[in-house]
This record gives sequence, C-alpha cells and structure tokens, in this order.
Amino acid sequence: MKSATSAAGPDRKVGNIILLSIVIGIFAGGLLGWMAPNAAMRIKFIGDLFLKALLMLVVPLIFVTMVHGVTQFGDVRKMGRPAALIITYYLLTTFISVGLGILLVNLIKPGAAGPGAMPVLTEKIAAVAERQTGVLGFAEDILNRMIPENIFSSMSEMQVLPIIIFSLFFGGVVTTIGKKNRTIIDLFDGLNDTIMKMVQIVIYAAPVGIACIVAGKLGSVGGGSAFVNELLKIAKYALTVITGLAIHGFIILPLILLLLARRSPLKYAGQLLTPLTTAFSTASSSAALPITMEYVEEAGVSKRSAGLVLPLGATINMDGTAMYEAVAAIFIAQSYNVHLTGAQQVVIFLTATLAGIGAAGIPEAGLVTMVMVLKTVGLPIEGIGLILAIDWFLDRCRTTVNVWGDMVGAAVIDRFTTIDTSDAKAANYNF
Ligand code: ASP
Repeated sequence: MKSATSAAGPDRKVGNIILLSIVIGIFAGGLLGWMAPNAAMRIKFIGDLFLKALLMLVVPLIFVTMVHGVTQFGDVRKMGRPAALIITYYLLTTFISVGLGILLVNLIKPGAAGPGAMPVLTEKIAAVAERQTGVLGFAEDILNRMIPENIFSSMSEMQVLPIIIFSLFFGGVVTTIGKKNRTIIDLFDGLNDTIMKMVQIVIYAAPVGIACIVAGKLGSVGGGSAFVNELLKIAKYALTVITGLAIHGFIILPLILLLLARRSPLKYAGQLLTPLTTAFSTASSSAALPITMEYVEEAGVSKRSAGLVLPLGATINMDGTAMYEAVAAIFIAQSYNVHLTGAQQVVIFLTATLAGIGAAGIPEAGLVTMVMVLKTVGLPIEGIGLILAIDWFLDRCRTTVNVWGDMVGAAVIDRFTTIDTSDAKAANYNF
C-alpha cells in the first residue's frame, strides 16, 4: 500500500509487511479461536472496532468515489458505453458462476443421501423467511430500495444502493452544468484523495483487526472441534460449494482477466491479497470496499474505473453468492427428495442471479435472499436449517469470490475505457 505520508507511489515494503502480518494474524487468530474459544471471545471486540472503522468509511467513500468517477468521464452522455460494459460484465460472470454451480451440484449430488434428521422451522429460519416475499415482491423491493426518499436517512442506515443511485445522478448532472462544475470537480478530487488516505491509515490496523475477527468468529461457534463437527455433517455440500467457488475464482475469473484485461492473474491477485483476506475475514463486500478500492488503484487501475465498478459491484455483482444460492437450493431439493424439472432449474438459475444482485454486501445476506429462490420453486423454507450451521464459513468463501469478481471487473472495464488525453478533466474521451 501507499505510505500514509506520501501519495507519490506505492510503498511496497510497507505493503508487504502488512500483508505478511495479516497472514500471521489469520493463523494466530485462527489457532486461538480453534484451541481456546473462550479466550478468543474476549478479543472479539478488537475485531469489531476494526470492522467499525472500515464501515465508518463506506458511506463517504461510495459517495465521493462514485461522484468523482462519473465526473472523470467528462460528460454523462459519454457514459453509455462504459455503463453497458459494466452491466454486461456483471451479468455474464454471474451467469457463468451460477451455471457452473448448477452443473456441479447435479453431478456431485451432495443431498442425494438425504439429510438424516429433517430440520424444523426454527425461530431463526422463520425470522429469515419473514424478510422475503417471493420473486415479484423481491424485484419490487430491489427497485424500491433504489430511489431514496431521503438520501440522508439512506446514508445513516448505510443502504448502499440508494447512495449509489444518488451519487450517479449527482455526478452525472455535475458534468452538464458547464464551467461552473470546475470547483465541484476539484472539491471531489480532493475529497477522494482524503478518503483514500483515511483508508490507508485504517489499513495499518488490519493485521490485528483481522486476527481478532477470525479468533472471535471461531470462538463464537465453539472452537475448532465444534466447527469440524458441523462441517462434516454436510461435507459433500460444503465441498460442492467450495469446488465451484474455486473453479470460478482460480480458473474462470483469471482467464477473463488475462484475455480481456490483458493482465497477469498471478501478479494481479498477488497485489490484491490484502483486500481478498479482508473479504474472507469480514464476510462483507461492503466492509472490504475501502481496502479493495485502495489496492485496486494501487495495482494500476484508474480511480475513475475503480470508483465506478467497485462500489456498484460490492452491492450487485456477487458471483459467489449467486452460485451458492443455486447450489444450496438444489442441495435442499435433493435432500428432500424433490425432483426438479429442467424448467425449475432454469427458474433457480434466474432467481439465484437475482438473489446475488439483491443481496446486501453484509455477512450472511445471501441466506435471506435464498428464501426467495426456495419459495419460487416451492421448496421447503426449513431446508435452510440444513446449511445454517456452516453458512458463516461458506459466506467467507463466497464473499472472497464476490470481491475478486469486482476487482477483475475493474481491470477489464479500465482496459476498455481509455482516456485519450492526459488531462482527466478535458471532456475528450475514447471508449
Ligand atoms: N456476505 C456476502 C458479501 O458481503 C453476501 C452473502 O452472500 O451473504 O458479499
């Protein structure tokens, strides 16, 4: 990462020390949580403090970087092509991911042996189910959430989607008011640098913060043996999800990066290990966003592309979540011995994609949107009980893929939206 005192360029040495400390922190925190869950619980609050510091930056970061990103395109009327590219990228990669998940779960059949004891509708599952209404209600809910009635209450409740819409609208209009926009653009340029510097400072706390989050989480599930016991109960299902995520994360996304962005996947992933480990430990695309943004820019992606692709991606581009929704729904059908027709699998494909788009970038949000997938094809909601205990772990894996997909997307979009002048403020762009 960049040194906190210099904006001149990346300070690799400091960045490497931080990364190494994060890796050590993950092992140390994991070991403590595994062996001594009670002791680990005592340091959980330090992890929560780090998480809060990241979340504190999310709202101003989204507003400032998105407005800044849009104004860097010079004129909102020139945004048609990049906008189309971004949406195409999001949808295409999500489709590939969900398709892959459906293929794997049909091949491996993790639920074919049945679940043993059928889960019952516990209070927790009922609470999850209550927040979902079926596909039409869900689509309506996404649209409803887009337009804020009061942008300040959206900000205070950290509802990311309306903030994004407001920022795009605001930034877009700024580009149309003629010369007077200079002051505003300069202001957002300065604000952008300020927020990013705040992020750089918070990153220094990442090794300790991440160690405590990992320790606290393992501690709260009762330590290593409790975790392994839960995992073994549905090992085949967990393995199917992890295999799918691994193929998408290690093969498909790197291929897209190589072919479309013409970047070395190994080098790019190496540069982005800190945001990837943050995504894994926080299980939240939104919490990881400040760090994602900082490192993607550092890896050479323009502020403009990072500022547009990453905040939007953190809320609507969730390859990992969408895949997990499809795998989980079909696993539940297999466990309950429900035969799904081809048409029903297509419905799962579409609703899982929608569920990935609609899930918030917060821990276990996918569990809530999965109710909609289950309801649409008439699967029992209590089936969620089969996967509930281990969801916190798979959530971390899918969040890492979600964030990796956003970062690959930023590089791809950046390559296809080049500016033909060195003056970023000159309204003369090439798409
Ligand atoms: N935790 C995921 C994320 O923030 C969302 C989910 O799948 O639950 O990306």
